[in-house]
Amino acid sequence: MQFIEALKLRSKLLFLFILITLGLITTAIMGNVHIEMMKKNIDRIYFGSLVPVTELNGIIQTYNNSIFNMLNQSKRLEISPSQTAQELYFALKNINKKWKSYENHFKRDDEKSYVAYANLEIKSINNYFKKIYQVSKNDHSLTKLNMNTLEKKIAFINAVLQKLITYEVDVARYEHKKFLQNYTQGKIQLGTILVAIMLAILSISLYVFRSIQKDQTQLEHTTKKLKLANKKLENVSYTDALTGLHNRRYFNYVYERELKRAKRSISYITFMMLDIDFFKQYNDTYGHVEGDYALKSVAKVLQDTLKRPSDYVFRLGGEEFGVLVTDTDESNSAKLARDICDAIRGRELKHEKSTVNEFVTISIGVVCCMADDALNDEILISRADEMLYEAKKTGRDRYIITSNVSATTPKSTKGKESLSA
Ligand code: GH3
Ligand code: MG
Ligand code: MG
Repeated sequence: MQFIEALKLRSKLLFLFILITLGLITTAIMGNVHIEMMKKNIDRIYFGSLVPVTELNGIIQTYNNSIFNMLNQSKRLEISPSQTAQELYFALKNINKKWKSYENHFKRDDEKSYVAYANLEIKSINNYFKKIYQVSKNDHSLTKLNMNTLEKKIAFINAVLQKLITYEVDVARYEHKKFLQNYTQGKIQLGTILVAIMLAILSISLYVFRSIQKDQTQLEHTTKKLKLANKKLENVSYTDALTGLHNRRYFNYVYERELKRAKRSISYITFMMLDIDFFKQYNDTYGHVEGDYALKSVAKVLQDTLKRPSDYVFRLGGEEFGVLVTDTDESNSAKLARDICDAIRGRELKHEKSTVNEFVTISIGVVCCMADDALNDEILISRADEMLYEAKKTGRDRYIITSNVSATTPKSTKGKESLSA
């Protein structure tokens, strides 16, 4: 049963289909074997032993052997009259019994008249033997018995019975032929019905099988489409529409996951909070459309700078971005932050109202530490935010990095680096 459970729907249907087919074929074979056996039995019972003929032969035998031979012996005084009477009594009884049994078999109308005639002849010859019986019973010998008359009577009754036998055999042959014809016809009819039923069941099964297969294919197709749509939807819900970067929702998910991973393997984790400098003025100067374009350019620079598959760039909101990097020590994280500042400035997006540079610049707060179980989940964000504030305060277009992740914010510059890029 476990084997069936393990099968796919299509294989289950195929299995069922094969089972039905095998079942039908087995039923047909078994049915045929039974019909053949029934035919053999009927054949043997009705036509093989030919019961009526056996009975008629028995009567002839009794007349010839039990009566004729016995009376012959009695005439020659080889057996006593009393023994003769006794044997004759039993022989006649036997003949009557066999004849009655024969008469009880089914007789056709044309046969009945001849049977009635034979009945009269048997009665007549039996009356003749009854007289002989009376003589013997009275203990008189049969020395005067006319053997010629006896022989003629026996020969006559033999001929009457023989004609009946010939008649019975002919009838049996005819009936046998008819039976075989009916049997063949019946078998053909039964076979045709069976084949028709089999074909009907097979075609219905095939139709059902195909239809389920079609449904299954459609279902698979729809599921595939649904999965794809879900994936798209997921991507949409995790993507910022303007820049194409991961959004805050995805940040929440990735941040938790990466932090756990870093804690498990006790490895470096770096989080950067980035904010475009004087972006309000940029919008005011060049308009929102240009502002959007600048946001997209910054996003592109960030993506190009952070190329490793394990580097994540997010737009956290407005003109604020987040970067999450793993397995990177403090000096390399600092280098990355510097590269970002350089690349944004190097993009040379004109910003005439900026007081730090003629082009658009960015400030970054960086926190890099070795993650372990003691690390507070929110501390990286709040520390990066603090470092960003510091970067803004100390002149913008720079990054400030710290590895200090203790909850109380150190106001000193210890453990923190301020670099004007
Ligand atoms: P600071 O250097 O201190 O960060 O100055 P700032 O002007 O950048 O500071 P602030 O955070 O006050 O200004 C952010 C501005 O970013 C406000 C808003 O006009 C602009 N901004 C936020 N989201 C979008 C956006 O989706 N498109 C555009 N064009 N501008 C946006
Ligand atoms: Mg801001
Ligand atoms: Mg800003």
